[in-house]
This record gives sequence, structure tokens and C-alpha cells, in this order.
Amino acid sequence: MKTDDISYFRPAIAAMSGYTPGEQPKVSNLIKLNTNENPYPPSPQVDEVLRQFAAGKLRLYPEPMADTLRDVIAALNGVSRENIIAGNGSDDILTIAVRSFCDAERPLACPDPTYSLYPALAEIQGAPCRRIALNDDFSLPEDLAAQAAGANLLLLARPNAPTGNLFPKEEIVRLCAAFDGMVLIDEAYVDFAADNCLDLAMNCPNVIVSRTMSKSYALAGARVGYAVSQSETIAGMMKVKDSYNLNMLTQRIAAAAFQDRAYLRQTVNRILATRARVAAELSRIGFAIIPSSTNFLFASPPDGDGGRYFELLRQNHIIVRYFPGARTGRYVRISIGSDADMDRVMAVTHQIYG
Ligand SMILES: *Cc1c(COP(=O)(O)O)cnc(C)c1O
Repeated sequence: MKTDDISYFRPAIAAMSGYTPGEQPKVSNLIKLNTNENPYPPSPQVDEVLRQFAAGKLRLYPEPMADTLRDVIAALNGVSRENIIAGNGSDDILTIAVRSFCDAERPLACPDPTYSLYPALAEIQGAPCRRIALNDDFSLPEDLAAQAAGANLLLLARPNAPTGNLFPKEEIVRLCAAFDGMVLIDEAYVDFAADNCLDLAMNCPNVIVSRTMSKSYALAGARVGYAVSQSETIAGMMKVKDSYNLNMLTQRIAAAAFQDRAYLRQTVNRILATRARVAAELSRIGFAIIPSSTNFLFASPPDGDGGRYFELLRQNHIIVRYFPGARTGRYVRISIGSDADMDRVMAVTHQIYG
């Protein structure tokens, strides 16, 4: 019998509030710069796949391990199929990792601030989460490995979100060597950054790198992510994933988009050019900006009141992301949109602080 005051949920689930994704407002004529989506369309090769795809094929299950797609990803990264696991978005990869490495006795560790999904995944799994404060400039504390000691998995976004900075690679190398546990380096924004940690994933037995097609490839709606690691680690994670975690259409779209290297370079370069222009203009108005290696800017207005700037942009139909809190509340996170969108942001910003 189920009465209103009895919950059969696990206590950990009943007590949690759940991860809140950035809003996807239904109204049009909004400038939407709150979830780091790409302002440009995906590769035209994706349209081609959609044109040629026959619905009748959906009668069959997709490739369970996404082998064709994994071969494409492996070739691009100069590794083998056995080093790759594909995910239904990189959030799926993160879920698989937390389920693989964390439980009540095997805590998760992650910096603070970082991607707010990480602690939510630990909560779902019934694993403690140790949040390690970044320095005031959002750099890594020197003793991070010591502070994370005892955790079994360390989740590290590099470039970090929502701050946008790129922790120096030497520090990551030292950290991975010093930490007794798995380190998952979340490279969701790596295509906008100067370097990556793929070599660590291949050379260190305790390192996993994850990537996504949601940002640089403009495929957030398709849900594609992947992880690279040594084959033993990938084989273990394969046991944890849903049997058919990527649908058939997504596998084909992803393979086509990955192979269009020229298109990726072109859209990334456009976004980088817009980012540089907007960062310079905001700086001239007196904004403090964290150096960005991503497709967004973490920027603090001249009066240090991120909440007020967020509200004023909103009143002007521009949606950005605001993270309340002692440190993050001084900033807003602005995704880099099209040049026209960013011109509108700058016009409103000049009105507010001019
Ligand atoms: C956007 C983002 C992801 C999620 O990517 P999906 O592939 O869309 O699930 C993962 N990590 C970070 C840090 C992100 O910002």
C-alpha cells in the first residue's frame, strides 16, 4: 500500500533536488546565450545523412558498441577502437564513470566551482562528493591531489566550466601522477583551447578524457559524446553503459560530422574571432574577464553585481547564465553567439554601464 506520507524512493534520491539544466525557453525573438550552444548549424554532411536515411532501418537495433562510429573517432585521434567508448552526450559518459568508480565507500572529488552536474551524479549514486575550492583566480590549488586523497574518482573539466580557464597542462600531469584514483578530464570545450590531454589518457592507466559534439560541432540536440582511455578501462566502462546507448541515426550523424574537419575548423575560428572581439570590448567598459579557452566568457561587470547584469540583459530579451554564490555571483557566463547576437549584447551593455 502506498500512502502520501510514505516514499519508496531511496533516501538519497528523496533528499536531492536534482540537476537543473540551463533553460530552453519556448518564446522566439530571444537571444539565447545560456547553454553554450553553437550559433552556427552543424556540418552540411549531417543534412546529407538526414536526407538519405530511410525510416525503415529503424526496425533494427543500432550497433550496440557503436563500432563504426568508434572507428571514425579512433582514426581522428590516432588511437584504436578499444580505446574509445561512445556516449549519449558526454553527460552519459560522466554517468557511466560515476557508476563505474563511485559508491558509498568510494567518493567523488571535483573542484568548486565546476560543472554542477558532477555532485548531482554522486548524489544519485549514493557516493560522497568532496568539493575542493579553486583559488580566488579559479586556478587549481597546489595541494589538490592531497585534498582529493581518499576519493576514487576525480572529475576535472579542462577548460573549466563555468569559469572558462585552462589549467596548465604541467599541473594536470603532476596531479594525475600524484592522485591514487581515476582522473576523468572533461574536455567538453577542448576544440576552443590550445592543447588537450589525450596523451595522458593513452599513457597513464588512471586517466580518462571525455569529449562532446554539443559545443564545437553544433550537435547538442543529437547527444553525442565519447571517452578515450586505455583499453582495460574502456572495457570496464562498457559493462556499465546502457546496451544501446546511442541511437542509429545519431551514430550516422556523428560519423559524418566528425569527418568534416574543414567545417569544424571554420566554425571554431569564427567563434574564436567573435570571442576575442567581445572580450576586448567588455574589458574596455571595465568588465573583469577570466581568460577563456571555451565558447563562452565568464565576465564580471564593473560594479561586480552579476545578478543585476543578468536581470537587465533578461529584460532586454538576452538570456545568459548566472550562478549565485559568494565567488561566482560576481560574474555572468555569456555563450558566444553570432556576431549579430553579440552586437546586441554589446549595445545593451553599453546602455547599462555607459
Ligand atoms: C556542455 C558540457 C558537457 C555536456 O555535454 P553533452 O555532451 O551535451 O552531455 C559536459 N561537460 C561540460 C563541462 C560541459 O560544459
